[in-house]
Amino acid sequence: MTELAIKQGENLKEKPSVDRLSFGIHFTDHMLVMDYQAGGWQGGRIEPYSNLSLDPAATVLHYGQAIFEGLKAYHMKDGRIGIFRPRDAFARLNRSANRLCMPAIDEEDVLVGLKALIGVDKEWVPTAKETSLYIRPFMIASEAFLGVRPASTYKFVIILSPVGAYYPEGFKPVRIMVENQYVRAVRGGLGFAKASANYAASLLAQEEAKKAGYAQVLWLDGIEQKYVEEVGTMNIFFVIGDELITPSLNGSILGGITRNSVLTIAKDWGLKVAERQTSIEEIYQASQKGLLKEIFGTGTAAVISPVNELNWDGKIIVPGNGGVGELSQKLYQHITGIQYGKVIDTYNWMEVL
Ligand SMILES: *Cc1c(COP(=O)(O)O)cnc(C)c1O
Repeated sequence: MTELAIKQGENLKEKPSVDRLSFGIHFTDHMLVMDYQAGGWQGGRIEPYSNLSLDPAATVLHYGQAIFEGLKAYHMKDGRIGIFRPRDAFARLNRSANRLCMPAIDEEDVLVGLKALIGVDKEWVPTAKETSLYIRPFMIASEAFLGVRPASTYKFVIILSPVGAYYPEGFKPVRIMVENQYVRAVRGGLGFAKASANYAASLLAQEEAKKAGYAQVLWLDGIEQKYVEEVGTMNIFFVIGDELITPSLNGSILGGITRNSVLTIAKDWGLKVAERQTSIEEIYQASQKGLLKEIFGTGTAAVISPVNELNWDGKIIVPGNGGVGELSQKLYQHITGIQYGKVIDTYNWMEVL
């Protein structure tokens, strides 16, 4: 980072034991903070983790100018710490920023800052099998002003959270409700951006699906509710016959980095891969004909999340073996292999500290 001030905390927290890690409940001792004012980003600061101070009129609290990222660092086999595709995350943050009229960050500068932050808190990167350090960069509008226009001041912050294994008892398929009533995003809206508002819009459907016994919802397009978009926090893939299919990025779908990793690897493996518009009817018909072999979600938290049931208005869609598909398993092993430094990183996806 061009300027990076480091203020180490004195009262370090006690680190949670592995069995208490879970997701997103423990935070490390430090955070990175950078302020935007007078048309530019000020130098970054690594500070003790603490509350932020905001004016009650801060734009983010009223009009929701807020975006974030989610990525992970891993304790690798050789003892080093590696971050998975951080440049892609910061590039996506800038695409989100542009959509919400927020200022771009300097991607390389912020990567230097992130590496320094993880360096300061490196004792927090858990070492137990399949654990990781979740990285949450975010940007909020901080100007005290109630008029409706983009704010003139912003805060960019990175916090870190040690997380436990996503599958402590092994790969576990989930049931998903196809959402018929609510929509998450429409073309021209915020769907492609990692905007906090997308999550606010998704909570009610998610809660109703949970009550009905489903882990997440599968969103359909916001206009006809015919075409598959994505799952709450994951992109979605189908294996139909010998083809791997995922909906194309049409503006309302979040372009996942895990999604891109799966597409890249599958193509290199010589699989038939298609990014295209996919109707839920097509998926239902494929399952009726016995051609639907696998369904899985992709995202940073789970990497691969096999799906064993879709409920589309009472029509139950169950893929092939109704369990964990062969490709799901292979992709999971390969991607986590790269992340933990057990498989050669031919794509240069790991940024090693
Ligand atoms: C973050 C996110 C994903 C997954 O993206 P990854 O980069 O693979 O973690 C998918 N959908 C939504 C809505 C997301 O916010």
